[in-house]
Amino acid sequence: MSFIRLLSRGTGFADRDGPGFAVSRRGFDDRRRLELLDSYEASGQGWFWATDAENRLSYLSDTVYRRYGWAEHDLIGQPFGSLFATEAEAAEDRSQRPLAFLLGARNTINPLPVNVSHDGKVLLWEIAGKALFDAHGEFQGYRGSARDITESRDRERNTERLAQHDDLTGLANRRRMDMSLANILASYRSSRRSCAYAMLDLDRFKQVNDTYGHPVGDELLKQVAARITKIVGNRGEVGRPGGDEFNIILPDVDDRGVLGELSQRLIQMISQPYPINGSRLVIGVSIGVAIAPYDGMEPDAVVKAADLALYAAKGEGRGQYRFYSSEMKEGAKRRRQIEEDLRGVLDTNQLAMHYQPIVSAGTREVACFEALMRWDHPERGTISPAEFIPVAEDIDMIKPLGEWALAQVCRDACGWPDEIGVAVNISALQFECDDFPTRVEEVLFDTGLKPSRLELEITESVFLGGSERTQRKFEDIKKLGVRLALDDFGTGYSSLSYLRTAPFDKIKIDQSFVRGCTEPGNNNPAIMSAIVNLAQALEMQTVAEGVESKDELELVIARGASHIQGYIFSAPLSQADILERSANGPLAFEARGPARYRASRRSVFRRIGVIHEDCRYHAVMRNLSKTGALIEGLANVPLGTKFVLDLGGGQLVIATVQRTKGAAQGVEFEIPLISDGSDRLCTRHRASPLEMPPEARTAAEGRDLAGGERSSPAKERRFAEVEIDASCAPFGA
Ligand code: C2E
Ligand code: MG
Ligand code: MG
Repeated sequence: MSFIRLLSRGTGFADRDGPGFAVSRRGFDDRRRLELLDSYEASGQGWFWATDAENRLSYLSDTVYRRYGWAEHDLIGQPFGSLFATEAEAAEDRSQRPLAFLLGARNTINPLPVNVSHDGKVLLWEIAGKALFDAHGEFQGYRGSARDITESRDRERNTERLAQHDDLTGLANRRRMDMSLANILASYRSSRRSCAYAMLDLDRFKQVNDTYGHPVGDELLKQVAARITKIVGNRGEVGRPGGDEFNIILPDVDDRGVLGELSQRLIQMISQPYPINGSRLVIGVSIGVAIAPYDGMEPDAVVKAADLALYAAKGEGRGQYRFYSSEMKEGAKRRRQIEEDLRGVLDTNQLAMHYQPIVSAGTREVACFEALMRWDHPERGTISPAEFIPVAEDIDMIKPLGEWALAQVCRDACGWPDEIGVAVNISALQFECDDFPTRVEEVLFDTGLKPSRLELEITESVFLGGSERTQRKFEDIKKLGVRLALDDFGTGYSSLSYLRTAPFDKIKIDQSFVRGCTEPGNNNPAIMSAIVNLAQALEMQTVAEGVESKDELELVIARGASHIQGYIFSAPLSQADILERSANGPLAFEARGPARYRASRRSVFRRIGVIHEDCRYHAVMRNLSKTGALIEGLANVPLGTKFVLDLGGGQLVIATVQRTKGAAQGVEFEIPLISDGSDRLCTRHRASPLEMPPEARTAAEGRDLAGGERSSPAKERRFAEVEIDASCAPFGA
C-alpha cells in the first residue's frame, strides 16, 4: 500500500489547519499527484511514515525496508517514540522534551534530527510530521515524512572539524581555541574553577624556514605539534593559532608548581633534535603562562596576560617559561622604549665596551679579557646587555651593534700588552650573516690586531637549525687564525654532538653550574668534571664563569677548569682602567671575595602584609628563600606565632615564627615557594579573586590584598608596628 492510499482511505479528513490535499490544483488532478508522490517515495530520496491514534508506527515507505534490509513486521505496531530518539534524548540531555512527549501533546514535528538504531544500524534521520484529526476533532495519528541525513551530517561535521583545525598539524586552530577558552571561562566562573592558558613560541623558527625551505619547516612544525600533544595528553587541549605559535588550555590547573614542571618538560622535549630529510634540526621554545581567574577572568585578559608572559620569557633570553605577573605590563612598556632608543644608540656615545679578566687557573695570570657591552642611558641609567641584546636581535639592530663592538674591541686591545687576548660575544644572528668572516677579516686588517689574540664567543644557539653552512662558517673563521669559544655551555640547547664537529678552542661552563656548587648534595661539581674531561679529550680549554667566592674558586680549580672568570678576580673594567693598570706594571688580579658562597637566600626589600587573627599589619620582607623569609616591622612576636603573609597578587603564605629578635622574625613557610621560571620565587597557589580564604577576607574588605590600609577594628591588635627603612640591618646582618 502506498502512503497516499493510506492517507486517502478515510474521506474528508482534515487536519487542524484545514482540508486535506485531495483537492486538485491548477488542473493537476489527484491521480497525477498520487503518481508524483508514489515516484518520490520510490526514488528513495525520502519516505513517509504514519502512526495510529496510539502513536504506534502504522506505515513506513517500502523503500526503507529495501534500503536497510529491515523486516516490516519488526517495526509496524511499535511505539513511534521507542523507535526514534531525538539527539538530546540520545545524549541523555534532559533539558529538552523527548519525542514521546511531543507526540503525546500532538505537537507538529518540525524537521527534527532523530537517532534511529535498529537491526545493527545506527542512522540519523530527519523527521517531520503533523497530527491528523477527523471531522469530529478525534486524533487519528501522525502523518509525516523522513529522510536519511547520516552522510550529510558526517560531511557537515567533517567540514566543521576542518574549519576548527589546523590543516598542517591537525591541532585546534585559533578559532576553536578561542571558542574553547571562552566556553570554559564562562562556565568556570560560576563554579569558581581555574584554567591555565599557555602560549608557546618557537625560538628562531624563521631561520629553519629560510635555510631549509618551507616543506622542512612544515615537517618540523608537525613533529613539534606531536611532541606537545604527547606531553599534554588528556590534561588539556593543544592548538596552533598559526605560524610557529602553539597554545594549550589546561582546565582545572592552577598549581604553578605543576605548570612550571610541565613547561620545563615541554622546553626540554621540544629542544631535542628532529631528524628531518637526513638532517638533525634543533629548535627552542619560549613559554608564557597565565591562569584564570587570577590573571584575568575574560578570555581577552587571559590571552593578553599569557602573551605578556611569553614576551618576558623571550626578552629574558628565550628557551624559558614565565608566569604572568602584573609587573610584566611595565616590562613590556620598558621594552618598547628600549626598542625605540636602541635604534638611534649608535649615533650617541652611550655605548661602551668593558673588559673582564679571564685568569689562568695554573699561573693566575690574565690570559684574556672578555668584552662586555655597556649602555649608559641618560634617563634610565645602566641597561644590562642581557636586557638589550635580545631586543637588538629582534629589531634587526644586532648586526650594526655587533660590528661596532668588534671594531671597538680590536682597537682597544691593540693598546694592551701583546700577550693578552680579547674575547668578543657574537650573537648567533650576526654569526649567520654570509659576510661575517669577511667582516672579521676586514676589522683585523683595519685595526692591525693579531688574529690569534681575538676570540669569538658564540652560544649553542648558532646550531639551531644546524647546517653545513654553519660548519663552513666555522672553517672560514678558523682559517683567519681567530679562536672560537662556546659560551654558556650547559644551558639551553646543549648537545654534546656540537662539540664533535665544531672547532672550538674553549668551552665556557655557564655560571649556573658554578652557583651553589659548594652546597652539600649539589651535583654541579660532577657535571663540571664531566665537561672538563670532555674538553680535555678534545684539547679544548675550559673557563668557569661567574666565580664569586673562595670556596667556589677552590672547587672549580679542583674540578680541573683551566681558566676562571668572575667577580672574585674582577668585575668588568673600562678601557681607561685597564690602560691605567697596565701602565703600572704587569696586569694581575688577586682573588678577593667572600670565603663562602651564601645559600640561595636573596636579599630583598619588599613591603608585604602580615595577617594575624583578623588584623592586618605592614611589614618588610628580606632574605627570601623557598622555605622561609626574614620579616621586619612587628614588635615582640613570640616564637611559634602563625601568620598569613600577603606577598601581593593573591599570594598568601602561612608562616610560623622560628626566630624572633626585636622587630625582626625569621619565619618558615608551611608550603615552600617555587621558581617562577626566572630567578624569582612565587607561591604555588593564589587566593582566587572569586573566593578568598577567611584569613584574607577581612584584610581585603578595605581594598586589595597587597598593602591594604585598613584592618578590622573589631579585633584588638596584638603587635605594634615599627617603621622600617631599607638601610636597617635585621639580626645584625
Ligand atoms: P656572557 O657572555 O655569559 O657574559 C658573562 C656575564 O656574566 C656578564 O654579564 C658578566 O658581567 C657576568 N659576570 C661575570 N662574572 C660574574 C660573577 O662573578 N657573578 C655574576 N653574577 N655575574 C658575573 P653582562 O655583562 O651583564 O652580560 C650579559 C650577557 O650579555 C653576556 O653573557 C652576553 O651573552 C651578552 N653580551 C654582553 N656584551 C655583549 C656584546 O658585546 N655582544 C653580544 N652579542 N652579547 C653581549
Ligand atoms: Mg660571553
Ligand atoms: Mg657566558
